[in-house]
Parts: sequence; structure tokens; C-alpha cells
Amino acid sequence: MACEPRHKSRTVSPNPRSRVADRLNSKLAMSDRSHPPEIPPFRSESDEREFPQVILHADMDAFYASVEQRDRPELRGKPVVVGGEGSRGVVAAASYEARKFGVRSAMPSFEARRLCPDLVFVRGNMALYARESRRIFEIFDEFSPRVEGLSLDEAFLDLTGSERLMGPARDVAARLRKRVREASGLAVSVGIGPVKMVAKIASAASKPDGLLEVAHDEVGAFLAPLPVRAVWGVGPVGGERLRAAGFETLGQLAACDTETLRRAVGDWGVDIARLAGGEDIREVEAYREPKSYSEENTFAGDVLDRETLEATILTHAESVARRLRRDKLKARVVVLKWRPSERQVPGPRGYPARSRRITLTEATDDGDTLAREARKLLAKARLQEAVRLMGVGAEGLESREAPQLSLFDAPPEKKRRTDLNRALDEISDRFGNAALHRASQGSAERAGLSMQIKRGEKLDEERPNDDDGFEGSPEDSPEDNPEDNPEDNSEEIEAHDEDYDD
Ligand SMILES: [Mg+2]
Repeated sequence: MACEPRHKSRTVSPNPRSRVADRLNSKLAMSDRSHPPEIPPFRSESDEREFPQVILHADMDAFYASVEQRDRPELRGKPVVVGGEGSRGVVAAASYEARKFGVRSAMPSFEARRLCPDLVFVRGNMALYARESRRIFEIFDEFSPRVEGLSLDEAFLDLTGSERLMGPARDVAARLRKRVREASGLAVSVGIGPVKMVAKIASAASKPDGLLEVAHDEVGAFLAPLPVRAVWGVGPVGGERLRAAGFETLGQLAACDTETLRRAVGDWGVDIARLAGGEDIREVEAYREPKSYSEENTFAGDVLDRETLEATILTHAESVARRLRRDKLKARVVVLKWRPSERQVPGPRGYPARSRRITLTEATDDGDTLAREARKLLAKARLQEAVRLMGVGAEGLESREAPQLSLFDAPPEKKRRTDLNRALDEISDRFGNAALHRASQGSAERAGLSMQIKRGEKLDEERPNDDDGFEGSPEDSPEDNPEDNPEDNSEEIEAHDEDYDD
């Protein structure tokens, strides 16, 4: 009703990849999940790239079940599921032999048993899978500096601009698959595409043990016949909503004009339609342990006034300290960074940044302490000319040890400071940083602060909690997480939602 469908439902397309659509259709029907879909924020495609984006999505085949079959030869060739066998048990992963019977992950175990009476249940060993995952991610890291883990067995690798060094993406993928096979004895399927969503669908389509590259000019034809649920982020509820509005395939969505879409399903539909057309500008978000935190700003006008500079330093120091405390870290090195207002050399890099650093005898997460040390560095710098940029950084990070215990022995001033910091953090968490002004910070506000979230920094919302059932990261140690330890888990294993994994 919403739009003239470009592809009538289920007609056989001359495109050989329509088999992909059929397979995804059957898979999506099996993997309905109860939670509503979460659509990632959509940014407009305006940034110009030096190289065309190349994304690789690597996804282990039937990961848990394959590990079990590798380690227990008696299970090879048999329909195996990892999961609880009890009345409330759920299938966490199913071998390909089990999938032939229609057994899928997230399915109740009794239903799996009904479909396949000879099914072999394995209780599973999360600690083992986590170890295996770490080994596999170490291999992923060899192929790209930007690896984004989606779960224990699945990751995006950004290959953008790496062709000269690494060779064509297809060759990189072949080498990666070989390396994983040699190191782990397991199969990984790989999809390559110009955007994340296409790479992810391509790896699903290539399974098992496959490799599929979708070139830039093939994206439209590749996506068009797929069911609306194939969009990464559209769950069962969203899929139903789109179908109720008359959309069956991505091609129909992509071909529909914006106004009709908005009337039919709202702004949400407009975003989905862009994705359906292959417009996905989500980038690979690599996670790295932070090595340093910093805040800086560029002044609206050049500044030499000492009071303004010191107030700016305090604002930045407070902000850095807040982030340290949030991530339970302390810093041993304080860095002051500035950029002179006078051009030093011709060209765009004519304003090189200057910095000075100091190492503290005791690591700190206190803003006043960071500010005091940074002010000392400012005094030592003996600035003769105005600056256009001022920043404060913290390096030499170490984890804060047992703060609750040390509070009892802390000298009164230190305890007061700790209490104050905690109060500041609470206000900041509740009302945002704008709510915070210490008396001497007024002038720094006028300097036009740029609060930036640094890439790779630990954030509360760091992990993509998308519709794909994120199951922890390779950094998750099973020892730290009792829920990951099957010893504590009796019969019920959490369903590992291996969405397209077949
Ligand atoms: Mg998988």
C-alpha cells in the first residue's frame, strides 16, 4: 500500500544471488528475538575519503559447536548442539549437521530434540570458547589496525586504504581464512563490502566456510531482493511493521520516496530505507585500551592572558580527571599542550603543537592536582606569544587500586577531596558537564571548549548493543564473569544469538 513494489513478492530474480534472499528469509524466520530493534544513528554521507571504504566481516561458522567437534572426534559428523538439555534449556549453537534438521540457536532445547531425536547435547565450556576467541582475534589484528569485535566469534576489519600494503581485499580475506584455519582448525566465513551492513550480509550469504565480495557497483543488485529483516538493526517487530506497510524487500524500501516512507512508517523508515539502499556510513569502531586521556580547545581569539589560560587548564584538568575516575584509572604523567598563534612554517602544518610533561611521584585522578601540575608546566614554558590552542593530558595510566580500603587511611584532606570528586561525578552524570562550574572556571567557558569523546576510550555505551545479540568481547575474561562460567551455570546456557550463522 505504501509504495509500488519494485520487486513483486518472491518472483524468481535473474540475479543468481536471489538464493541469498531465500536463505536469509528462512533464517530470519527462525531467529526471532523478543527485544525491539535498535536503529543505529544515521549520519549523512558528506565526509570525503581519500580511499574508498573496504570493510571485511569475519564470522566463525557455528563457533561453539565447531570447537566441540574439533576437540571431540566422536562428535564429528553428528548433529550437535551446545546448550542445556533440561526442560528450560536453550540451544546456544548448533552444528551444521543439526541445522539440516531445522535446529537453530536460541531455540528451546525440547523443540530441537523434537526436530532431531538423535541430537547430541553438549553442555559447553565458555572459558574454552573465550580462549579460542582471543586466539582468533589476535589473527584478526594481524590483518588490520582497526578491528571491531561484535561477539566472541565475529568482527569487522577495516581494510580501507590497505591495498598497496596488503593486496586486494579478496586476497587478504583468503589469507585470513587460511590463517584462522591453520591456527584453530576452525572455519571462518568472510564477507567484503564497501559498507558494514553489506559486508555482514555477504559473510552470512557465503556460509559455510565461504568468501563473498560485493563490489561497490553490485551493492544495489545484491541488496534489492533481500527481505527487510536483513537490514542490520531491524528485528522482528520492525520487520513486521515494514511488512504491514507493504514492504517485503530492501529493493522496495530503497526505491520508495522519502515522503511516502515517512507517512507509512515515520522517520525510522527513512533511515532504514537508506540502509536498504546500501547507504551505511557506520565506521569500524576499533576498541583499544586507552593509553592517554586529554581535553583541549581552540580559542575563538588568540590568548596570552594568564588568568584565562589557567582557568582553561583547570576546566580541562577537571574533565580529564572525571574520565579517569569513571574508568577507575589514575595517571602518573601530566601533559600540557599548546599551539602558538604565530605561523611557524608555511603550509597547513604551520602551527605545530608544543607540549611539556611532568611525572608525578604518586598517580592521581584528582582534577586540582592535574591542574596544579599543568599550571607549573605553563609557568615553565614562559610563553612570550599568544596561543590558539590549550590542552591538558594524562598519561602513564594505572588502575586505581582498592579505593574503598585506602579511604580509611587517607589523610583528612585527601578524603575530603575524594568525597568532593565523587559528588562532582554524580552531578556530572545526572546533569551533564555544563552543570559544573567551580568558582574560577568562568572564563574558560568563554574560550569555547570542545569536549571530545576520544576514540577507543571506555564509555558506558562503548559496546554496540545492537540487535545482533552482542555477547561480550574477546577481552572478557571468563574468570571475571561468573555468568560465562558453565560451572556456575547448571543446565541453562544463555542463548548465543548467532543470527546469520549457518
Ligand atoms: Mg558465527
